[in-house]
Amino acid sequence: MELELVTIGNELLLGFTLDTNAAELATALTAAGVHVARATTVPDDGDAIRGAVMDGLNRTGFVVTTGGLGPTRDDITKKIVADIFHAPLELDTEYLEKLRQRFARLGHSPMSEKNRTQAEVPRGAVTMKNRWGTAPGLWLEGEPGIAVMLPGVPQEMRGLLHGELLPRLKELMGAGSQRTTRSRMLRTTGIAESALADLLEGVENRLAPATLAYLPGPHGVDLRLTVWNANASEVDGWLEEAVALVRPLLGKQYYAEGDKDLAAVVLDALAESSHRLAVAESCTGGLIGERLTAIPGSSAVFAGGVVAYDDKVKENVLGVPRRLLEENGAVSEPVAEAMAQGVARRLGSSASLAITGVAGPTGGTPEKPVGTVCIAAGAGEARRVVTLRLPGDRIGIRHRGAQAALNLVRGLLS
Ligand code: AMP
Ligand code: MG
Repeated sequence: MELELVTIGNELLLGFTLDTNAAELATALTAAGVHVARATTVPDDGDAIRGAVMDGLNRTGFVVTTGGLGPTRDDITKKIVADIFHAPLELDTEYLEKLRQRFARLGHSPMSEKNRTQAEVPRGAVTMKNRWGTAPGLWLEGEPGIAVMLPGVPQEMRGLLHGELLPRLKELMGAGSQRTTRSRMLRTTGIAESALADLLEGVENRLAPATLAYLPGPHGVDLRLTVWNANASEVDGWLEEAVALVRPLLGKQYYAEGDKDLAAVVLDALAESSHRLAVAESCTGGLIGERLTAIPGSSAVFAGGVVAYDDKVKENVLGVPRRLLEENGAVSEPVAEAMAQGVARRLGSSASLAITGVAGPTGGTPEKPVGTVCIAAGAGEARRVVTLRLPGDRIGIRHRGAQAALNLVRGLLS
């Protein structure tokens, strides 16, 4: 089954409101085996709504809209869609009475006459109960196809999606003809998108029917393999074949599948090698500790950390010799190593990780420009130290720094 989404609202195009409805609908519908062919966003404008809904109906015969079902002047979705289906609006007196009772219960009596329009239903439409608000969802079928109208408020949309829309779609699709779209994600870090593309060049044209998407972000590049609209009994097999082609080529840059965070991979590696980790963070200011402690059960292998931002803290708390700081500067490999050893000593841990860098926007020098980061890791006798030049603004450098640090200790433990 194939359909299109039309999300409606000026606020979406002004950028004030993020279109979470399209994302939620797409995820839930895809998981249910519905192929979402297109998602269009239009303003609260009759011609724009009419155009998008008619185009969607022409292409797939099935459109789901959100927004524009409220009681105010800008809410015109129902009128426009009813018009496309040549279905006049009729007052549902039973629903109107329920609305009046709802408003009375909430102490808003008498109800504003504006809400009357919410009890108007296109002739032949099925109303879908909205327990979270006043505008019912509407399912309208006719010569142009099927149009489902859902409210814009995310909580109401979600309630109707799971409570009403998905069960109806499943019934419509029946048990036999299950087609589905499914993805698997392979996560990499420490390698640029273009370098990854070079690695995968040889297999990219052998992945079909799976498609490959490169999704770069501050944590690295995620690779999403997707098999679209395939027989439900075959889709996992196709995906497994694609993964088997791609994964061996990723080498050490691959760290996890799905949405598993690198911090969780590090915690697993610590547990396996019976190490306890302590961290000393300067430029990341606690980001590494935050990532590690976000994972339930981290206390088993994560001792804690010191945010050693000021040089005095590096010196007095971590025991970094003042001479090292003066001779090399705070952003240097010797200081990073001394921070790592200091925090291990202070917290009595067998493994340690330290990071110091120039996050910017000021503080860069010709030898140490903004983005210069020194990271040291130790586990038992093994140690490693690196200097990296990270791209991005302050936020990006801090996040890339935390990720690179976690990756360094992962490399040491594996
Ligand atoms: P409406 O049903 O058009 O009156 O929308 C009511 C409210 O729901 C809007 O003010 C937005 O805050 C929110 N909203 C509408 N459409 C979306 C959307 N596509 N994604 C997220 N929020 C939305
Ligand atoms: Mg609106």
